[in-house]
Amino acid sequence: MNARDIEKLREIVGEENARSSPADLYIYGADASVHAARPDLVLVPGKTEEVQAILRYANAKKIPVIPRGAGSGMSGHAVPIDGGIVLDMKRMNRILEIRPQDILCRVQPGVVDDDLNKALKPYGFMYPPAPASSCIATIGGEIANNASGTRSVKYGATRDSVLGMKVVLASGELVKLGANTNVEASGYQLERLMVGSEGTLGVIVEATMKIVPIPKIRCLGIACYNKLADAGHAVSEIIASGCSASMIELMDNVAITAVNETQNLGLPDVEAIILFEAEGRVKDAVQAEIDAIQAACEKHGGFNIETSYDAKERTRIFAGRKKLFSSLSRYKEGYACTSLADDMAVPYSRMADLAGKIHEVAARNNIIMSAYGHCGSGCMHTKILMDVTKKAQWEDARRAVAEIYDYVHSVGGTTSAEHGIGLSKAPAFKKEKADSLELQRAVKRAFDPNNILNPHKLFDAPDDWVTATELRYPVGSVREP
Ligand SMILES: Cc1cc2nc3c(=O)[nH]c(=O)nc-3n(C[C@H](O)[C@H](O)[C@H](O)COP(=O)(O)OP(=O)(O)OC[C@H]3O[C@@H](n4cnc5c(N)ncnc54)[C@H](O)[C@@H]3O)c2cc1C
Repeated sequence: MNARDIEKLREIVGEENARSSPADLYIYGADASVHAARPDLVLVPGKTEEVQAILRYANAKKIPVIPRGAGSGMSGHAVPIDGGIVLDMKRMNRILEIRPQDILCRVQPGVVDDDLNKALKPYGFMYPPAPASSCIATIGGEIANNASGTRSVKYGATRDSVLGMKVVLASGELVKLGANTNVEASGYQLERLMVGSEGTLGVIVEATMKIVPIPKIRCLGIACYNKLADAGHAVSEIIASGCSASMIELMDNVAITAVNETQNLGLPDVEAIILFEAEGRVKDAVQAEIDAIQAACEKHGGFNIETSYDAKERTRIFAGRKKLFSSLSRYKEGYACTSLADDMAVPYSRMADLAGKIHEVAARNNIIMSAYGHCGSGCMHTKILMDVTKKAQWEDARRAVAEIYDYVHSVGGTTSAEHGIGLSKAPAFKKEKADSLELQRAVKRAFDPNNILNPHKLFDAPDDWVTATELRYPVGSVREP
């Protein structure tokens, strides 16, 4: 990208919305993953026409364009591995329409999830996926990642909320996908193809999303376990017994200790806890679900089970789970919390095995790992806690990640449940989806023949995640032979 390109592109968005200082390029070179690279230019478009003009120019000159929301992705999705333009979509953050009668809203991609929910609340509605990052994550980023969260056990992932969208293709052409209806059978569901596309197929400039009424009554419960595996079996039992839970979250002892030490919440010091929730319009119906969930928890050794309908108490109990990621980063002095092998999904019946496997793999590889997550939707989170300044620890992490994914794939699980693939998970993803990689590449070519949109991600990412980019940490020797 030469000085003339930079000048021309700056003109499209205006000087105040173009950034290229060393500090800006440093910040926009990383996300919440372990990876870092450097873009040539950051552009912050304010309208669709600007996005179209940028892509027209970039496509003609074959300049990489990396769409970006909040940069909260955990696997390097928005890291500009080939340089080029980072397209910060956060200025396009208007809520265009809220239509309760049609249970939908229409938003620009830079709207932050919590802001959308604040705007929906006076109408008595909510946008349900509820990722733990909802205070920063944008709707565009959530669609491009198929984000899910605490309430996905009841309402599904982002894909289940998408009705339609407007997308700028690599050529600069604007296309409208989907419809304003709850059901649609009019040909290929291309709006669904954009879900999980990680910025590789087009730039989402508008989204029509399904919304749901806020339930009148909610009850949150907590169950303690002396054995992590028992908690895993309980999750499977709750699901298989047909309980209508609106949340089932697991936290192991590493997670509990991290939260207690950093937030002083006084969570019970046991091997595992399950947080569960039921919601609805009628208290007796909600209580019936809570009773059924409680029985399933007790069947597998759950004890000291407490429940609460009180909003303040529910927020207090749940606070630890919401801030778990930041708490884990302070679990052990000198250790950083890295997002690696961090959000696999396995069939429910394997949840208990996977939780045990995570701890076994961690112990064998000299690292600390935590097992927690939105287990109600089948998603198990881990984080690898390690001394990121030591080259040997990255080798330990590399082995641990491979062992975890070997297990996950062996039981028919999947590499990512909700955080997406980006760079860190690409080697495991390529193994898992080996049969369909050529098909996926053909789709990419159809949308983006010049390969300008977020190149070298997913199926085209490097085979070794440790050396795929610079690492965000001072590991002087990690690239040495
Ligand atoms: C503390 C913490 C907790 C988290 N908890 C959860 C969780 O519970 N559930 C969950 O699913 N995730 C979670 N995440 C991961 C992350 O927040 C989500 O993946 C989120 O969807 C990313 O949104 P973003 O706006 O930050 O996107 P970014 O990270 O900026 O981008 C993610 C991908 O989307 C693409 N993209 C962004 N905007 C557009 C657009 N307009 N058009 C096309 N492509 C676009 C980018 O190119 C990139 O590939 C968590 C992250 C953190 C840091």
